[in-house]
Amino acid sequence: MEFKLIAEYFDKLEKISSRLQLTALLTDLFKKADKNVIDKVVYLIQGKLWPDFLGYPELGVGEKLLIKAISIATNVKEEIVEEQLKTIGDLGEVAMRLKKTPQSASILSFLGAQTTEGLTVEETYDALTKIALASGEGSRDIKIRSLAGLLKKASPLEAKYIVRFVDGRLRVGIGDATIMDALSTAFTGSVSYRSLIERAYNLRADLGNIAKIIAQQGAEALKDIKPQVGIPIRPMLAERLNDPTEILAKVGGEALVDYKYDGERAQIHKKDKEIYIFSRRLENITKMYPDVVEYVREYINANEVIIEGEIVAVDPESNEIRPFQELMHRKRKNDIQEAIKEYPVNVYLFDLMYYENEDYTMKPLPERRKKLEEVIKPNDKLHIAHHIYTNNVDKLTEFFYDAISNGAEGVMVKSIAKDSIYQAGSRGFLWIKLKRDYQSEMADSVDLVVVGAFYGRGKRGGKLSSLLMAAYDPETDTFKTVCKVASGFSDAELDELQKKLMEIKLDNKDPRVDSELVPDIWVEPKYVAEIIGAEITLSPEHTCCKGMVTKDAGLSVRFPRFIRWRDDKSIEDATTPKEIYEMYKLKLKKKEETPQSDEA
Ligand code: ATP
Repeated sequence: MEFKLIAEYFDKLEKISSRLQLTALLTDLFKKADKNVIDKVVYLIQGKLWPDFLGYPELGVGEKLLIKAISIATNVKEEIVEEQLKTIGDLGEVAMRLKKTPQSASILSFLGAQTTEGLTVEETYDALTKIALASGEGSRDIKIRSLAGLLKKASPLEAKYIVRFVDGRLRVGIGDATIMDALSTAFTGSVSYRSLIERAYNLRADLGNIAKIIAQQGAEALKDIKPQVGIPIRPMLAERLNDPTEILAKVGGEALVDYKYDGERAQIHKKDKEIYIFSRRLENITKMYPDVVEYVREYINANEVIIEGEIVAVDPESNEIRPFQELMHRKRKNDIQEAIKEYPVNVYLFDLMYYENEDYTMKPLPERRKKLEEVIKPNDKLHIAHHIYTNNVDKLTEFFYDAISNGAEGVMVKSIAKDSIYQAGSRGFLWIKLKRDYQSEMADSVDLVVVGAFYGRGKRGGKLSSLLMAAYDPETDTFKTVCKVASGFSDAELDELQKKLMEIKLDNKDPRVDSELVPDIWVEPKYVAEIIGAEITLSPEHTCCKGMVTKDAGLSVRFPRFIRWRDDKSIEDATTPKEIYEMYKLKLKKKEETPQSDEA
């Protein structure tokens, strides 16, 4: 398959902003794509070489190296490339212009070196892989040589997008939802297979893999898809409510109630001696937890299994659970062996999704839990989450306080009804979280994506100090603004913020951002922050839930405050408008029940 097709597609994409057009273009590209490399086409569109969960290295090519490669490929001095970068501001554009420059072409063709016949997707991908995997002594030379070789052979337009890709600036603004729509239309003629594609993706969070199956075997083949050890399952998520009576009623009157531990979510895969640990956002974190790998090897009695739990820091002396911050201290340490000693962890397991070639995701929770109990050998490192089965509100409340006094964050109330399946990749009322009360009317904090920023005034003059935050709407694959957050940052966090934001600054609004406000700078949606506020309130300025409560207003967070960065969440894991709407309704209900609190 010619790489030209992809380059032309990126070029068209840059010029449009409607999602319908985006999907149509993408559909067209998938139709033309070679079935054997469609997985690679999907990764390149996602701006990566492979899914994150493989834990393979990134390209590791900085600006300097890139400039050197462009200089070699176009036979132009490095200083000239640098100069052009200063005036044009985009290395991709610089590479394209230099490739077009007649005099460099004629010199090169005179030397017999200029061959711009264009590239195939395969050779481009292979060269980029070689660049990413080169490590150790001599790797710098390998990277420069491979990249220069690639750029030499590339057409001007191809060079532009290869450079942008390597530079990490290929901002095509396409989310997974749009890719799934386009796959359905390209291979079945309509979006009717979209939900089947989504289910397959939920069980195997690798869109390249899914695209290849559809292209090679047809969409019907997705019906037989099972989880696969080594490819993470997208996590099941919980809804939130704050009244134990309502919670119990919502799950059908009886429930399995677990401690809700405050640590790091871990999806653990085991196949014989192979063990992988994936994070909440499905990154491969196996290397960070060699101790957990060892526990799984020793205490999990199964050849092939996928289980889930929370990794929690514990006191080295008493084995009691410690706060989340301790786990963060551990992660910051460079010496893993020392970190293990200083900050030991336990794992509190709460689910099992796959066992000896059998998909357990469609089985009810009690059956999954029973199997989980069977596979754990007695030990003091891997535990089943502390729990009760109950149909009694008082027992539930008592257990909630017990959880908090023992250092947990609250409880997870889980349905044990016949339909209590593992709902991979979705948030529903089969699991409901009941958390410690915050000093806030809000039932919970929200996780929002930074889409823009404003310069501060006074003491913070000249500094970007207020962030425009947005919720992610999976139905439209867009980011809808919720609030501007300017408080809660430490001085160090504010300083770091400047660098962080300038690195992802965009000239124009990202096509997926839906905003009526125009910030001082737009940024690429990349970072997720946890925000708490006084309450969810109506706001005419913001686009989140616009028209859902009243015609002219959306929903916003009043007095928002930054709590922390949520590096464990991708932008598509951010809180959705639907959740914010539910939180707003919860607030109204609470006010109706306790009208006196309004006057307070
Ligand atoms: P979410 O993961 O729902 O988007 P979040 O990451 O902001 O939300 P919370 O709202 O605090 O986190 O709660 C969900 C998280 O609680 C899970 O992702 C999991 O990491 C953690 N957790 C702790 N104990 C349990 C348990 N017993 N069962 C399920 N999840 C648990």
